[in-house]
Amino acid sequence: MFKSIRWRFILIYFLLVFLAMSIVGIFIVAQLENIQLEMNKKSIEDRVRFILETSNALKTKNWDENIAEIQENIKTTQIGYNENLYIILNDKQKTIIAGSSEGIIGQSAFNIAQINNYILTKSFDGSTEHIVPLDQYDDSENPIFCHMSYPVETDGNIKGYIYLSTNIEYIYDTVNQSRDILTRATVIALTVTIFLGMILSSSITGPIKELTVKARQMSKGDFEQKVSVKSNDEIGQLGTTFNFLIDELKKSMSNLQQEKSKMETTFKYMADGVLTVDTNGNIIHANPVAKKLLSLADEDEKYDDVVMKIKDNMVLTNLKSKNYHGTEILEQDRETYYVDYAPFMNNKNEVGGVIIVFKNVTEQYKIDKLQKEFVANVSHELKTPITTIKSYAETLLDGALEEKQIAEDFLNVINSESDRMSRLVSDLLRLSRMDYDQTKWKKEKLNVSEMINQAAKKLSIQARNKNIDMHVNMDAEDMYVFFDKDGFEQIILNIAGNAIKYTHSGGNVWINAHIENKSIAIGIRDDGIGIPKEDEARVFERFYRVDKARTREMGGTGLGLSIAKQIAEAHNSTLTLNSELNKGTEIVITIPKI
Ligand code: ADP
Repeated sequence: MFKSIRWRFILIYFLLVFLAMSIVGIFIVAQLENIQLEMNKKSIEDRVRFILETSNALKTKNWDENIAEIQENIKTTQIGYNENLYIILNDKQKTIIAGSSEGIIGQSAFNIAQINNYILTKSFDGSTEHIVPLDQYDDSENPIFCHMSYPVETDGNIKGYIYLSTNIEYIYDTVNQSRDILTRATVIALTVTIFLGMILSSSITGPIKELTVKARQMSKGDFEQKVSVKSNDEIGQLGTTFNFLIDELKKSMSNLQQEKSKMETTFKYMADGVLTVDTNGNIIHANPVAKKLLSLADEDEKYDDVVMKIKDNMVLTNLKSKNYHGTEILEQDRETYYVDYAPFMNNKNEVGGVIIVFKNVTEQYKIDKLQKEFVANVSHELKTPITTIKSYAETLLDGALEEKQIAEDFLNVINSESDRMSRLVSDLLRLSRMDYDQTKWKKEKLNVSEMINQAAKKLSIQARNKNIDMHVNMDAEDMYVFFDKDGFEQIILNIAGNAIKYTHSGGNVWINAHIENKSIAIGIRDDGIGIPKEDEARVFERFYRVDKARTREMGGTGLGLSIAKQIAEAHNSTLTLNSELNKGTEIVITIPKI
């Protein structure tokens, strides 16, 4: 209970008031008693002096000669209620010669209970003795008396004593009453103190309590708090500062929230995987890409358990040995990732953990690989005809030139190899121009039937040489497309040329065109050697040939279909391949119609 400021306040006030009242009370009561006793003493002295002055008999030398007169004088002396006066002769027995009560006259003063022997004896040497007998203070039965023994002297000899005892109980009554009043005042003052203390403490602890409640709510994330400022004092200022603090915190929190949500959105939708791990190996955060990549079901899993399955050299101890700084290459599910990791600092500026970024570089890797393959392919494609030309030319120079028939055959080979090289170079040039978007397509309205007939005418010699029947069939005459004329012809020539090339002599090639919804579909079909299923997807790649040795013999460069595909794509058109080994192949070109 006394742990709270409120009760401590009240206790301190209570003790303060209690102490103050007690000290003041004790002083007042003691002082009052002293003053009263002093006044009483003076009053007794004055009375004795008055008795001495007014009684002539007491002024005489020998009291024992004037006893009757003394007694007479005393009778007239005013004696208060509960007051005793004795005139004691200085003889051996200290005989009482006069007094306020007559029954004791003639008796020795030592035998009288009301006379304090000690005081009487003390005054034998001539000093006035006065005492309030302490032993009677608490005796409520016996009244409290104040005694005084006054020696009367003439010529240096003590004649006798005037002894007066006065009841001073009224003094103690007054003192007790005062004490009662002070005690009551103390109780009232303490009650008022408790009451005022409660009001004062609650005026201080009230706002503090409110602040505590609001601060507690704030700690739970509720920043919609405001304390009511009712005064301009220190507590009011504390409230104003608290409100200001909340406003500032709210602003900072909202900025932080915004930043956090921006970061979260960035992390969520970024193409790279991001994983944050603390130094104990706990996964703090993983974005969806990272979760998918690491097959992470929940973030409670330990980093080492997860990473062990895909790349065991990336366990935390290994990363730590490199000061959490480095790069790795990760192959996972036919994708290639460039893994980059770096440490992050905590609020004590120590390493708090490591951020690992998985960058998917599969495409880049593929392109790199393709580029390398392309260079190797081009070199290989050129090397074969060059070697052939060189060896034939050397043989001719070595003497074969003399024999006309051999020389003519050799020169024919050199010529056809040169043609192949030239075809290869022109195909490469064409592809490279398309790659760098340098081909200026002259798109125009083309009549599909006309274009197909023209191409078929160009191919007819080739078909006739191979004894292949070409069947051209058009559903309608008015089929129009928006296409580059040369490009269109190139596609038909490449695909239909292949159909002739890869069909045995005596076979058939069909070219037909028809309208299909909003497109024109041109199908080029043959009953030739066909393409194995596993090669179908790859025949559109550059330099890809199903049977490398044979197709090269047939004069192919391995670029025809990739050129056709690239031209089609530049015109929003598609090529679809359908083939069956040893039965035939069909390639359908679908072009948007106008
Ligand atoms: P090429 O100049 O070698 O003909 P292409 O790119 O035109 O190169 O064709 C790639 C490969 O696809 C050919 O080498 C061949 O193996 C195969 N191919 C293309 N068309 C046909 C077809 N109609 N029938 C069978 N195989 C074909």
